[in-house]
Amino acid sequence: MVVSQKEDFLQKDTKNIWHSMKKYDSTSTMIIKKAKGSWVTDVNGNRFMDAMSGLWCVNVGYGREELAKAAYDQMVELPYFPLTQSHLPAIKLAEKLNEWLDDEYVFFFSNSGSEANEAAFKIVRQYHRQNNQPDRWKFISRYRAYHGSTMGSLAATGQASRKFKYEPLSQGFLHVSPPDCYRSSHTPDGTCCEESAKEIDRVMTWEFDETIAGVIMEPIITGGGVFIPHDNYLKEVRKICDNHGALLIIDEVINGFGRTGAPFGFMNYDIKPDIITMAKGLTSAYLPLSATAVRRDIYEAFKGTEEYDHFRHINTFGGNPAACAVALKNLEIIEKENLIERSNLLGKRLILEMDEMKNHPNVGDVRIKGLLMGIELVDNKQKKLPVKPEKIQKVISACKERGLIIGKNGDTVAGYNNIITLSPPLNMTDQDFEFMVSTLKECIWQM
Ligand code: PMP
Repeated sequence: MVVSQKEDFLQKDTKNIWHSMKKYDSTSTMIIKKAKGSWVTDVNGNRFMDAMSGLWCVNVGYGREELAKAAYDQMVELPYFPLTQSHLPAIKLAEKLNEWLDDEYVFFFSNSGSEANEAAFKIVRQYHRQNNQPDRWKFISRYRAYHGSTMGSLAATGQASRKFKYEPLSQGFLHVSPPDCYRSSHTPDGTCCEESAKEIDRVMTWEFDETIAGVIMEPIITGGGVFIPHDNYLKEVRKICDNHGALLIIDEVINGFGRTGAPFGFMNYDIKPDIITMAKGLTSAYLPLSATAVRRDIYEAFKGTEEYDHFRHINTFGGNPAACAVALKNLEIIEKENLIERSNLLGKRLILEMDEMKNHPNVGDVRIKGLLMGIELVDNKQKKLPVKPEKIQKVISACKERGLIIGKNGDTVAGYNNIITLSPPLNMTDQDFEFMVSTLKECIWQM
């Protein structure tokens, strides 16, 4: 028997690679060989439009030679030096990031979103200790949200399905309900999600607010199913944090770098975070890099004179020169190609295009902000019961057969793994956009 190229690779793959989030089923494994723009090609030459940008991260699309060149040039010049000292790519990148952030932050570089959040938790706890408030060590986050895979960032995550096999995780992480406008009760003036903000206030009071270090949240919960909050929600949270003396960490790992039609997701909601964590779109995933942006006055609190006043945290690869050079070039591409405006514009088109889907008996809610979309599939529109997993799988498989990769998100333990997600490259062509929309609609109608 002749073994096809893919089968041969698959055998080797199954034998030697332990995949993330995957059961031992190699039949659906894609072995991708190359990619350009929004399209990836597998080892057998099949092409797929990647409407998830990998894991919500290839914001400027695949195959950007400028990014490869930036990495090459930097590696030849200086491949590595630790950020216990400094180097030019990190200096230039931090300056550029501050152009996007009104010059208000100082950046601690790591390699992944999880690490950026871990650094944030440690900074916040130490900050309170430096300010003679050592009892402030607890963090509040929301159910359904994802903040990473390490013991602290997973503790902050609000999806039981990812956590229960590994508990106990880091201590001191409390959760409140997400701002779920679809399922929350609306007030007469049309606002919603108030319960979620009020819960934060209540938990702070009941836990004794002098034990609360901070709150961590994405502006729009992404991996948990794309929850777009009411316009006032983040302002409310900001006020609550200020009233109780807690710091507000905004996780921009997915929201950032144009995904929601703004430079950062929080900018849609007119608030200023104390700390911003970022990764993925920072380099469009061409190299691993993340950052914890800390408001300057918080950083200043670490400039004491005692031996242990400074931030005792280090990682070997954080702020790698080539990764910083790629990030800088990536930001220049986003600016030069107006990708934030494009995300905003295509997001508005997507809202119009998807409007008709509300007539579908299984489409409970369509949530769109920029090039970020969640479609909540339900079996009963009144009761809002999540569709069975087989049904959503049918849509995903139908899309894949037609050459379109889409995502599925939620929390399996809670029974809400019923949300289709899309997060395509921001530089997708009009043709790609039309293909994505028409294929998705066709596959949902055929569900
Ligand atoms: N925060 C959010 C909002 C994320 O979506 C993710 C990853 N999907 C992380 C943090 C963790 O990032 P990483 O996988 O790079 O550790």
